[in-house]
Amino acid sequence: MRESQPNATIVGAGLVGSLLALYLAKKGNKVTIFERRPDMRKADIGGGRSINLALSDRGWRALEGIGIGDDIRKVGIPMYKRVMHDVKGNLTSQPYGKEGQGIYSVSRGGLNMKLMDLAEENPNINLHFNQQLTNLDLKTNTLEFHNPQTNEDTKVQAERVFGADGAFSAVRSVLQKTERFEYSQSYLEYGYKELTIAPGENGTWQLEKNALHIWPRGQYMMIALPNLDGSFTCTMFFPYEGEHSFSALKTEADVTKFFSEVFPDALPLMPTLLEDYFGNPTGTLVTVKCFPWTYQDKVALIGDAAHAVVPFYGQGMNAGFEDCTVLNQLMEAHDNDWETIFKAFETSRKPNADAIADLAVLNFVEMRDKVADPQFLLQKKIEGKINAMYPEQWIPLYTMVTFSPDIPYAKAMKNGQKQEKIMKKLMKYIKTEADFEKPEVQEILQQKMAEKFSV
Ligand SMILES: Cc1cc2nc3c(=O)[nH]c(=O)nc-3n(C[C@H](O)[C@H](O)[C@H](O)COP(=O)(O)OP(=O)(O)OC[C@H]3O[C@@H](n4cnc5c(N)ncnc54)[C@H](O)[C@@H]3O)c2cc1C
Repeated sequence: MRESQPNATIVGAGLVGSLLALYLAKKGNKVTIFERRPDMRKADIGGGRSINLALSDRGWRALEGIGIGDDIRKVGIPMYKRVMHDVKGNLTSQPYGKEGQGIYSVSRGGLNMKLMDLAEENPNINLHFNQQLTNLDLKTNTLEFHNPQTNEDTKVQAERVFGADGAFSAVRSVLQKTERFEYSQSYLEYGYKELTIAPGENGTWQLEKNALHIWPRGQYMMIALPNLDGSFTCTMFFPYEGEHSFSALKTEADVTKFFSEVFPDALPLMPTLLEDYFGNPTGTLVTVKCFPWTYQDKVALIGDAAHAVVPFYGQGMNAGFEDCTVLNQLMEAHDNDWETIFKAFETSRKPNADAIADLAVLNFVEMRDKVADPQFLLQKKIEGKINAMYPEQWIPLYTMVTFSPDIPYAKAMKNGQKQEKIMKKLMKYIKTEADFEKPEVQEILQQKMAEKFSV
């Protein structure tokens, strides 16, 4: 038994840092968090990324681990399906999972503030705002912070440091200078812009509330997630350059004309379009992969700092929350043996983080392009039938990633690839839903299923 209480220093009080603090405190650590920004509960700091986020089962499991799943569910809006809007405003839809299975639209700020409130109530957690990490000396584990408001610099000596400081992590940039640290960062040639669909009369929703809306347009798309006040936050994912691109839409007239041509049913619902389009920043879409995530028993990266992914599977935060679940399991298994905990953490999480990073990029093509293709929607229906026939053996990839927290991302990706190969073979014989019953289709399916599981 140790005599003194172990101490943990977290850099970043974002979604993952705040949740991590609660898990570490639960395990008896004295936790100090340093956050670069002012306290979002007191100052409107705006300019952040995505006003709302899709929370799904991996995220729920982590929130339930600290007993706040039900609280957050009360302020989340379940989305049970994708609703696709074509250029004429016609709608088609595709359920996300089985009846009653949905992902939840939650407010990023609301969730972050709730986690901060819980952290602040905990006597073992101290929060410091306006503290930007500027240096970390790995020999002594001394952190240096700069307060941009007072211009003061502070040095803090830490027993253990957790870098939860996001995709452009300062903690990671220190690890990058250590020997054989692997690092890659890749940007899509697309950016994103947040726009708004206004609430209807008396705070009602002008589009179907319990759905994620998509305007797939081949090379680009817009999506919309519902908010509690009746509005929807739209995100337009758009190339930086080219015929249809941010660089091509220069004037107010350009933007209005473009929206009237490609998103005609959304335009009348967007009275602040021009203000939003020209006032909101254009966000970048980055994937960050790196390794190792830890340094001795002193430093660990977690959340986006270790694995930033593009948002097309709605899994970045969920994956970061799952990091907390896994770290908690390892703390339970290995008590205070941090070297073992850190090694096991990075070894088990890295393949899964790489898998969700790759799946997220692939899902962009599905969302912006394939969901508009009737053949693709037919394939999804057929896949639903196969899932009903083989509920244990054939689980659609989206379901494995989103609703099956016991299936690691890497395994989901591998199973998904096997299933996709079988689907391709079957779809050669299928032109309508009824074709699924054809003897040749059933025969191929049975044969392929036997092969799939005969390893
Ligand atoms: C457009 C968009 C949509 C998204 N949608 C979804 C979604 O639907 N579902 C989902 O699961 N994920 C989604 N994500 C991903 C999600 O936003 C991230 O995965 C999540 O925010 C990661 O949390 P984090 O705490 O690791 O990092 P962050 O949220 O980036 O938090 C890092 C914190 O560290 C602080 N910090 C940074 N540098 C320093 C420093 N030097 N010193 C001190 N503090 C510092 C920052 O101020 C911040 O508070 C989306 C992302 C984008 C861009």
